[in-house]
Amino acid sequence: MSAPITPAPASSPTSTPPDADRQYLLERIGEAAVVQVYADGFRDLPLREKILVWHLTQAAIAGRDIFYDQRYAHNLEMRDVLEAIVAHPEGIDRAAFGEIERYTKLFWINSGPYNNLTARKFVLTCTPEALAAAAHAAARHGARFPLRAGESLDALLERLRPMFFDPEVDSTVTSKTPPGGADILAASANNLYERVTMADLDGFKEEHPLNSRLVKRDGRLVEEVYRVGGRYSAPIGAIVGHLEAALPYATDAMAHALRALVAFYRTGDDASREAYDIAWVQDKASPVDTINGFIEVYMDARSIKGAWEAIVYYVNREKTTGIRTIAENAQWFEDRMPWDPKYRKQGVRGVTANAIDVVIETGESGPITPVGINLPNDQLIRERYGSKSVSLSNVNEAYDKSTLPEFRTEFSWTAEEAARATRWSAFAGELTTNMHEVIGHGSGKVDERLNGTPQNALKEQFSAIEESRADLVALYFIADPKLVDFGLVDAASHEEIVRAEYESYTRNALSQLRRVREGTQIEEDHMRNRQMIVRWLMANTSAIEVRRRDGKTYYVMTDPAQFRAGVGRLLAEVQRIKGEGDYDAARALFDAYGVHFDPSLRDEVVARVDRLQLPSYTGFVMPRLEPVVGDAGEIRDVEIAYPLDLTAQMLEYSAATRHLRA
Ligand SMILES: [Zn+2]
Repeated sequence: MSAPITPAPASSPTSTPPDADRQYLLERIGEAAVVQVYADGFRDLPLREKILVWHLTQAAIAGRDIFYDQRYAHNLEMRDVLEAIVAHPEGIDRAAFGEIERYTKLFWINSGPYNNLTARKFVLTCTPEALAAAAHAAARHGARFPLRAGESLDALLERLRPMFFDPEVDSTVTSKTPPGGADILAASANNLYERVTMADLDGFKEEHPLNSRLVKRDGRLVEEVYRVGGRYSAPIGAIVGHLEAALPYATDAMAHALRALVAFYRTGDDASREAYDIAWVQDKASPVDTINGFIEVYMDARSIKGAWEAIVYYVNREKTTGIRTIAENAQWFEDRMPWDPKYRKQGVRGVTANAIDVVIETGESGPITPVGINLPNDQLIRERYGSKSVSLSNVNEAYDKSTLPEFRTEFSWTAEEAARATRWSAFAGELTTNMHEVIGHGSGKVDERLNGTPQNALKEQFSAIEESRADLVALYFIADPKLVDFGLVDAASHEEIVRAEYESYTRNALSQLRRVREGTQIEEDHMRNRQMIVRWLMANTSAIEVRRRDGKTYYVMTDPAQFRAGVGRLLAEVQRIKGEGDYDAARALFDAYGVHFDPSLRDEVVARVDRLQLPSYTGFVMPRLEPVVGDAGEIRDVEIAYPLDLTAQMLEYSAATRHLRA
């Protein structure tokens, strides 16, 4: 599972950069920000590891188009048209070009025409005639378009017209609760299924649940398997080539995992996938690692099909000390969990925990990236072999450095509160994320009668309960004096850090309402859990006050001791709910505090953030690697650079894989 944490939005180009030496925020496009991510430790890696990273990044780029195609069947053709125009601006009407460029950048950031937060389609706002004029001008200057045999440029544009201009055609990429009780597969525009409905799946057993597209052909269901020789054969073959080139530079444990991944890409069999998951999770010590494959299932309305993604990273040793300290002392925390001792675990096996710096993220994890990841998703493998947890340090840093100061001042009651947030939010955020992953998700046990699967009892409430539990563990222990003994926080600053974290957690329950612009319900599980915790504390403790000033609402955390005591009480109840699988209590808890909100309060929050032009999400520009090749063709060094340019990077990635799509 990945943590799609939603940190504060990035700053606008007009605000003062937080670090004058270095540019983080590159540009704003509508409600999106574009930010450069830096990987400072790369230069100090041994040459062998640099070469390893180089080959793995080539594998990451080679698979990028797989995700585009999975997300929408017309995605790659649309991208070709847009890139042909954007790369040839000569002779195009300025206003039309500006709109096409705006749309293209949002298309790149979201990997297609669907907003990553709402799943809804966004469209070009120029006229079809203006797009056609721009395309012809680009063609006169040498642009090449993805024409089918015998097709004219005008015919191509006419064919793609509804995709570019009509918001009602293929309106939602993933629709888990479609209006009117429509079929969830038919209502979802993604390309994981073709002409398949849920009814077709009755009694059908998939052999390749994670890595196939399901197609209905002549009344029969066919699994198009993603593998060498199957669907996406050319890009998968290229990935395999790069992974094999990486093998000589990998540690033994990593080479074993990479060979297992290659075997899975060749066979496509679920048994190979399992072998790969096991080999990957057992590689605990390699300084460089990669996630590459069909991993997360959020895009599939059924939560079965994996979306392709790749991440290449190295361990950030300095930052890792903190997360490892937490993992090494997991039993100490477990023994002091503020819940019924019968739910405390003995013999805690810590997850492998690392702070990492990413060098590249593609597919479902880039340009929009998670900040924390815990894999593999296979529950049986997790129980038997454990899991690996990573916190994306340089992504967190880039988020923090690009945060707009107004975001904190707007929702802070006092200037002191805003200053505390500026000073401590990055530090406290990373510490709580680490505790959330390692001793939050990793802790506790459930009643034996649940057979280790409380999700069967808690059903659609399970994720929100589990995320609440992990957040509450972090909020509870961040105030424990023992953290000073562990060296996780400095004694002189501890009190201020706790206050800053409690204040920011409280403010978020208000500011997150900006993301739900329609309706009066929160659907996303992380948002539900954060809303529930703060609203429960408001109702059951005196730690938080709702205040108003100049027509604005503020959630003000006034008493850290009360806050922590309340967190402990709520955590005991949340663990009891999980431990017993108490579905009714879970549902009642979220119904009372986590799901519903006052729409007039939301309208107020939306107006406040819109006035400040605060972005809703961020796309990242990745570092760029360049090998230095010697006379004999050997790689003598690998240099890292920062493009500071979304367009240049996206055009470069697309050019690198064009030959795989013929
Ligand atoms: Zn979590």
